[in-house]
Amino acid sequence: MTSPHDKRKEVVSSIPKRNLVRAEQVFLTKLKDVTANQVLSILSKRELVKNCDIDRAEMKLIQEEFSEDKLPEWWNPQIEAKFTVLERISLKDAFNYIVFRFKFHHYPRTGQVYDFPQYVLIEPVSSCNLRCPMCFQVDSTFTKKPYMGIMNLNLFKKVINECAAGGTGAITLASRGEPTLHPKLPEMLSYLNGKFFEVKLITNGTRLNEDLCRSIFKNGIDQIVLSIDSEDPEIFESIRYGADFQTVLKNVIMLKSIREREFPNSMTRIRISGVKIIKSQNPTAFKEFWSQYVDEVTMGGAEERWDTYNNQLHPELTDKCLYPWERLYVWFDGTCNPCDVDYKSFLSPGKIGESSIRKIWHSNHFKKLRSDHLSGERGKHNPCDRCQVC
Ligand code: SF4
Ligand code: SF4
Repeated sequence: MTSPHDKRKEVVSSIPKRNLVRAEQVFLTKLKDVTANQVLSILSKRELVKNCDIDRAEMKLIQEEFSEDKLPEWWNPQIEAKFTVLERISLKDAFNYIVFRFKFHHYPRTGQVYDFPQYVLIEPVSSCNLRCPMCFQVDSTFTKKPYMGIMNLNLFKKVINECAAGGTGAITLASRGEPTLHPKLPEMLSYLNGKFFEVKLITNGTRLNEDLCRSIFKNGIDQIVLSIDSEDPEIFESIRYGADFQTVLKNVIMLKSIREREFPNSMTRIRISGVKIIKSQNPTAFKEFWSQYVDEVTMGGAEERWDTYNNQLHPELTDKCLYPWERLYVWFDGTCNPCDVDYKSFLSPGKIGESSIRKIWHSNHFKKLRSDHLSGERGKHNPCDRCQVC
């Protein structure tokens, strides 16, 4: 019988190391069908249009995107998931959420820089208890000082306060490490409560416990995403190296049953998000098994970011990457970064504590990165010169 270690080695060697393209997630489960006319009726509410903070021309543009009963190309399942709870959110929130999503899609593509980052990804912890082969946690030059650490709660609150005041729309807790390793994660969730349109927690599910599950639902976290890639224990354990399938299954069942039993009106969506890296993974069986326990099941490809700095150079890549316009990552020590492909922060435009998020977002360093991307010179930056994620 193959040992888990040998199985993992087999998985590692089977992943194509080079030339991966950006991996889109595919929803395997069916969500609610939202029609463009439903959205348009929200966007046409006069009192909401009057009080929103965008100009008329932009509002007209948004409304045009939903004309002739067609949903725009940026309407994705994640947005649709929000609309499965539409009956339970106010019209004003639904309206503002659509506006936020429109800007989130358009601004990076048209090269407009938001006044303040609209999407912020925060890592409570940079380490992980697993060693998945497609993750930067397998880079042993990364899993040590100065890269490993845990976020101080005061720093977390400072980041959240600035994001809330600046108008950030979405927060994700995860990034380079496993957030459930943070002993104060429930306090972080409580601090996030009610401040943003979307709050997402990504976890490998190995360390969920009853209190944490309650804290997720009590604090209205919009989405909990569990990184699970198979219904087959052996395949699962060869990818999520270090995890035990039965423990994770038990935890997912616990999560679901706490929501059903104690929070029947919860709007938190539970999603299983898998990465397809080996042939023997079966998306159909995967979906059938996990959709018994969760609301959504998705699967995407692996992104080329587990050994970023040794990737082959790609001088032919001159398109701008959207990330420097779209989002901001905040590491455990306040270091900011445009992406986690660059998990060692070569591209970092600054650190919270030494500067504010707003100043970092508009810093010369960030401006230079954006302008080089715009002028087809991303090759001046390592690792943009070897990155095909975006
Ligand atoms: S669980 Fe996530 S952070 Fe941890 S090793 Fe796997 S992919 Fe990386
Ligand atoms: S390394 Fe550069 S090109 Fe790749 S995702 Fe990050 S910012 Fe974009």
